[in-house]
Amino acid sequence: MQIKAPRGTYDILPPDSDKWQYIEKVLRETAQLFGFQEIRFPIFEHTELFERGVGETTDIVSKEMYTFRDKGDRSVTLRPEGTASCTRALIEHSAYSGVMPVKWYYTGPMFRYDRPAAGRFRQFHQFGVEAFGSHSPQLDIEVISLLVQILANLGLKEYELHLNSVGCPKCREVYRQKLVDHIRPVKEHLCKDCQIRFEKNPLRVLDCKVNTCHEAITGYPVIYDTLCEDCREHYSIVQKGLQEIGIPYQHDNNLVRGLDYYTNTAFEIHLPQLGTASAIGGGGRYNGLVHECGGPDIPGIGFAIGLERLLLALENELSALNKPGCVFVAVFDKTYDMDGLKLVNQLRKDGFAAERDTTGRSAKAQMKFADKLGARMAIILGKDEMDNGYYTLRNMESKEQITVKPKDLNSTIKKILA
Ligand code: AMP
Repeated sequence: MQIKAPRGTYDILPPDSDKWQYIEKVLRETAQLFGFQEIRFPIFEHTELFERGVGETTDIVSKEMYTFRDKGDRSVTLRPEGTASCTRALIEHSAYSGVMPVKWYYTGPMFRYDRPAAGRFRQFHQFGVEAFGSHSPQLDIEVISLLVQILANLGLKEYELHLNSVGCPKCREVYRQKLVDHIRPVKEHLCKDCQIRFEKNPLRVLDCKVNTCHEAITGYPVIYDTLCEDCREHYSIVQKGLQEIGIPYQHDNNLVRGLDYYTNTAFEIHLPQLGTASAIGGGGRYNGLVHECGGPDIPGIGFAIGLERLLLALENELSALNKPGCVFVAVFDKTYDMDGLKLVNQLRKDGFAAERDTTGRSAKAQMKFADKLGARMAIILGKDEMDNGYYTLRNMESKEQITVKPKDLNSTIKKILA
């Protein structure tokens, strides 16, 4: 029986892998412009890290984790996101004792046992950043503007930036009470999950994707109305900063992250054209997380972008991706196979992308093959060329042919490629 990739996973084959390399390059380079450096952390961690760092009442932890016991009978989990690992690494390496803020980015596969659908996979990829060590709203502005700059550098225009503040543990407690009072009379109409959420962490009811839950709690109080003075001030500076640098956003009362260590700014990027999987990325402040994970009281803020959804959104922009094109060495007489080998080897050493036939094609078939490879030119080695010490150089686009002396070969190729 044929073995296929597990449900919810997929292969990335060429030429799609070119698109992945391209967006990853833009993501890295843009993050570096903003002073973020790469962190690489394990694909699996102790399960407890996510229970504490993501939160036991979240869908990720309660339903979606790939958790298993290893041969040493330890419970380990394939990482479902990156913030918890960054936080662990910050604490483990006391990275906060150096220059602050600590600014990291990461990219790689994440794993969630979710129901596969359009734009939803079990192994998917995220690019994320985390910045630790500053309470200032100026850092929030920097992080959000990085997200926006990434989208701009990728050529994405039609998106919405949603923004809210979820306050601090103090003012959120006031909100929590208001929300509980609002939901309690309609509690019976909530889905099973939300009935549990209501008892354990009522703010999480607002995150529920089930329509009937939304209908049941309609008219619920909004968190903005209960923000304390400090939180209001923080939020207003973030908004002012975004306005100052011309970043449009919309205040969104429904954008709530229900866990205690999330504080102040929350934001999300939506692409309405993607339908049900419209969120391509989001993030926020998590001033309580480092402490929750056993570290000192250090604030943080970050975001993560889903790369599959980003690629979906960029389908048109990426279809015209320019490939640099290679040089094809065509050997028209088998006697010169080794000369072809030596030439292609030298061209690669000199930094040119070079290709040749390794399957025994005829001269005509080699030229067709060169076209398929997208070669910009072919260097032809035949009897006449070898006897007289020159190469025939064929421009694959214009079909023009010239003769070139070996000493002029590299400079001529450079000219044509330019
Ligand atoms: P989250 O860590 O849940 O805030 O997700 C951040 C981003 O990752 C989302 O906006 C999505 O773009 C992406 N994402 C989350 N879960 C999945 C999934 N199962 N499949 C594909 N992308 C996902």
